[in-house]
Amino acid sequence: MKYTQTYQSLNAVMYQTVAPTPVNHPSLLCWNTALANQLGLRRFSDDEKAAIFSGNQLLDEQQPIALAYSGHQFGGFNPQLGDGRAHLIAEIESEDGASFDVHLKGSGQTKYSRRGDGRCALKPAIREFIMSEAMAGLGIPTTRTLAVVATGETVWRTGAEPGAVVTRIAKSHLRIGTFQYAAQQGDLSVLEALLDYAIARHYPEITAKDTSTKVTAFIRAVMQKQIETLTGWMRVGFIHGVMNTDNATISGETIDFGPCAMMGAYHPETVYSSIDTEGRYCFSNQAPITQWNLARLAESLLPLYGDAQEQGLKELEPLIVQFKADFEYAFYHMMLRKLGIETEDIEQYEKLVDDLLALMQVEKRDYTQTFVFLGALLGGSDDVALSEQSDAFQTWVQAWRDVLSQVEEKQSVSPVTVMAQVNPLVIPRNHHVERILSACEQGDLSELHAFVAVLSRPYEMQDATINYQDSPVDGDKDYQTFCGT
Ligand code: AMP
Ligand code: MG
Repeated sequence: MKYTQTYQSLNAVMYQTVAPTPVNHPSLLCWNTALANQLGLRRFSDDEKAAIFSGNQLLDEQQPIALAYSGHQFGGFNPQLGDGRAHLIAEIESEDGASFDVHLKGSGQTKYSRRGDGRCALKPAIREFIMSEAMAGLGIPTTRTLAVVATGETVWRTGAEPGAVVTRIAKSHLRIGTFQYAAQQGDLSVLEALLDYAIARHYPEITAKDTSTKVTAFIRAVMQKQIETLTGWMRVGFIHGVMNTDNATISGETIDFGPCAMMGAYHPETVYSSIDTEGRYCFSNQAPITQWNLARLAESLLPLYGDAQEQGLKELEPLIVQFKADFEYAFYHMMLRKLGIETEDIEQYEKLVDDLLALMQVEKRDYTQTFVFLGALLGGSDDVALSEQSDAFQTWVQAWRDVLSQVEEKQSVSPVTVMAQVNPLVIPRNHHVERILSACEQGDLSELHAFVAVLSRPYEMQDATINYQDSPVDGDKDYQTFCGT
């Protein structure tokens, strides 16, 4: 592992050099040993972990900075966002040449704080740990959590809460909002340099020098990455909750686990975020919103076409339109794998997926459990009784079996195996997450680690898995999440 310091090669308007504000009594709550090893970080003593990952001590003399960005928040543009309570404390390159940001959240004010206190409460910090590690376990591109350190200080939200600092590891913190910020600086060289930086960091296969080829290849590449992540979300019932353009990464990694939640009973309009009153970011809107966000990325790059704006529009518009077809293909491909069917020939089986989803909606079926049930059914498990299901469901199962009998022989991997690879046995269900967070707030972290261990291997039946598979008694009907991190 070696340190690199690449962000400072960008124009100085893109960041502020600023140290974290020290905290009173840092104490280490969570440390992700597997991730630390994977990154090749050096060994730290527990005191060092608490001091460094609270922001009280620099990480090996690295220079912290806060990053500037803009963002469309619920559709409205805010030109001046940025790391208002976060610091990029180091950039590292691991043994295999991959580069990562080490980023503290809750580490004090910066010039982007606006009226915020620069701090983070303990519950949302641990929530980020649980959710990001669950996403990693599920195999979905995501930022990770290396550490959570309690600050020993009080933060004021709806009331007094204990404070914490969370350390996030990301392939980078470049967001669509970073491009929107650069585009407003009135200096094309700032924007061009950012584009070149993003390409070098994430899409080095793009080697074109002329603007048109470079920009279109970049948009296409980001779009493919975001579609991959989005279909991962849809595969496991993840609802991000706040898909503002500042929370949409150029790497495609899932970022910002503020009001996110997992869907229990299937309904496309499921939304849990307290502030998403219009359902802008509900489960099924996540695809059109991704497209909308990519259109904002394209818009921010348009100035690079200089005098040839019309040509730029003509090139970029069809790319954004293409999103719909590309996403739908990826979506059905993924859903069919959830049913054990591996095929490129999506169209003739789309109805099978649509029918199941419609049935799940009407019957208020649990999203995760339904696919686990189907897998067990196919595997011939004695515990699974099809006869207890509704007539409509039994009819659908027959149609599914008919399809399987047609495709099975052509598949290199058996349907049962395909299903076991993509249908998790366990997800971070909201009622367990909240229960464990409340215990953590009272100082009891004993169950947290057992929970995260189960979530890190969600496709395997471990001893403790069964403790976390139940759907909520009340169907999460009053469940709400908040932007609190
Ligand atoms: P988020 O909702 O976490 O995506 O944050 C949106 C913007 O608000 C970002 O610019 C954050 O840095 C800023 N922000 C959120 N909470 C705070 C806080 N407690 N102090 C300062 N800035 C904050
Ligand atoms: Mg954010």
